[in-house]
Amino acid sequence: MSPRGQRKQVVLFLIAVIFPSLVLVALTLRMINQERELSEKRWTEERRRLSSEIGQQLLVRLEKIKLEEMGALESQPEKHREYHYVNPEVVLVGRVEQNRLLLPWELDRRSKEVNRSSGETRFTSKIRQAEEEEFLKKQFARAAELYRESMNEPRLQGQVAFARLSLARVLAKAGHTREAQAHYREILLLPSEVTDEQGIPLSLYAAVHLLERGVEHQTVLQRITSELETTILPSPAEFYILRGLAETLARSGPDGSVRAVAGNIHRRILERISHVEQALELQSDFAHLVLTPSGRREPQSREPVWVPYGEETWLVSLTPSLTGSQPWLLAVQASEILPSLATGSPLSKTFPGKIHLLTDREAEGESLGPNFPGLKVAFVAQKNPISAGPWSLHGYFYLVTLLLVLSVTLFGAYLLWRDVRRELRVAEMRSQFVSSVSHELKTPLTAIRMFAETLRMGRFENPRIKDEYLATIVNESERLSRLLNNVLDFSKIERGKKIYDRKPTSLAGIVEAAARTMQYPLTQLGFKLDVEVENDIPPIRVDRDAMEQAILNLLTNAMKYSGESRRIGLRVKRQNGHALIEVSDEGVGIDAKEQAHIFEKFYRVSTPDNQLIPGAGLGLPLVAHIAKAHGGRVEVRSTPRRGSTFSIHLPLESEG
Ligand code: ADP
Repeated sequence: MSPRGQRKQVVLFLIAVIFPSLVLVALTLRMINQERELSEKRWTEERRRLSSEIGQQLLVRLEKIKLEEMGALESQPEKHREYHYVNPEVVLVGRVEQNRLLLPWELDRRSKEVNRSSGETRFTSKIRQAEEEEFLKKQFARAAELYRESMNEPRLQGQVAFARLSLARVLAKAGHTREAQAHYREILLLPSEVTDEQGIPLSLYAAVHLLERGVEHQTVLQRITSELETTILPSPAEFYILRGLAETLARSGPDGSVRAVAGNIHRRILERISHVEQALELQSDFAHLVLTPSGRREPQSREPVWVPYGEETWLVSLTPSLTGSQPWLLAVQASEILPSLATGSPLSKTFPGKIHLLTDREAEGESLGPNFPGLKVAFVAQKNPISAGPWSLHGYFYLVTLLLVLSVTLFGAYLLWRDVRRELRVAEMRSQFVSSVSHELKTPLTAIRMFAETLRMGRFENPRIKDEYLATIVNESERLSRLLNNVLDFSKIERGKKIYDRKPTSLAGIVEAAARTMQYPLTQLGFKLDVEVENDIPPIRVDRDAMEQAILNLLTNAMKYSGESRRIGLRVKRQNGHALIEVSDEGVGIDAKEQAHIFEKFYRVSTPDNQLIPGAGLGLPLVAHIAKAHGGRVEVRSTPRRGSTFSIHLPLESEG
């Protein structure tokens, strides 16, 4: 194929294969991209759907809690202290009065104050007298007497306890420790509803005194425990007293178990104190909180609103009172309510990751709807749950197909490129071959003609010159026939028509014939040929002419590429069951890189010196073919500028 044809083939290939595959790549990438965008969009939609579902469920749950709490609360309106929240998630229930939030202990105190103010005057006057004796006059004995008297007045349980507490205190001051402790012990056992004006159970005061004196650790511990269990949200003051008691017990309790239990209780009290403090903050921020959808303070509004509040995140909402008076405020711990929603509902099946509540307005998340202003949810999944589905499988499929198509295309392109390159090289060699052969034919023909014409003129005195001319003509025509033989044989080989006529022949005879043939040109050029033939080589079945032609080719090459050297060796020997015909020179040698190619047809080493030496690149391919046809091979050992040795290895039949 001509180089132009080759180029056309490459262009066609590019159009037919590379271009479509590029289009395919572009389309596939676009498709994968679209798939990804689609899955992102689906996931965004899914998140929205999920968050609105969460919002609805949350609302249902919170409104249920609200209703339950209100129902329970209003069924016992005056007993806030004993009131237990029905739902464990509830952290605060307070009443709103004139735009002010009243916390549980404040509601309680109000009722106590009413009690006190409606108390008996005889009791209160006795108490006042006693306090005068105790604090102003320091008459402890008289004060004790007056406190005792006040206890005998008709009175409420709280008043007796108060008098007894005062009595215990004054007795302690007077040094009647035992008696004082007996009274304190009695007060310690009073129920927690018996409180002072601050709503603090009197028993706690007794506990402080008893602990200071290092007695009644166990009873005080029980007292604190039951106080924590029976009250919902004691006042801050009461909590601080409880904390002090727990601290003392944890530090100086009589034994390890008391100290450990007290330590635990201390931690619980601290948690509750942080609740109380958040409740106080809520109270002071209450006026600024927007707890209705329109921003107006209308708790009767149809749409319930839950807003996040505080570091611990409470969800706070207003609710109209069932009895129609002042509204109530309800706070629920968000961290408690959300997990129960996420685990107990069908949501957990839809979304396998984690769901977080966010209160930061800047944070990225999905809004929970108009009922939860300022509240968002974030979905934390290991990966986009939608793209983890069948879509990614599509993506993989596209990619694999694309890779397959591309690799097939590239492989095809590589094969074609290799083929084209080889063809181009052969084409180039062939054209070189034509010019080399013409040149090689021309040289001997010119010589033959010149010498023949000189002979025809017949003006020779010296018969030696005439002989020499004739010898040259014979030699040149022999060279011509060697060249033509090479070309003809090569063409036969190419067409698969070359037949070797193998008969048992002595290698020594062939080698000697070849040496004889070359003798004239060798001596003409001043070469010395060393011939060595081992004697014990049996006859081998060879095509005599072909083998001689191979040896002649090697000898001709040795002459052509000898450079300055004039020594050539021709040896026949036996080695490892083979007969070896070796032709060696001390000439230009062959580069290791070139050695792999010199047996290819038309191949010529392309050094400038080499270009000047006539040749068609057919000699060695023929030698290789002949050796192979005889079941052998040809090898070369060569060092640049040192010389080369070519050896034909022929198997000895008797040994092989
Ligand atoms: P030609 O001799 O006609 O170029 P050949 O096929 O006989 O073709 O040889 C191929 C190439 O091998 C030569 O061009 C030459 O470069 C290299 N070559 C062959 N024989 C020798 C040798 N004895 N010493 C150095 N180079 C050689």
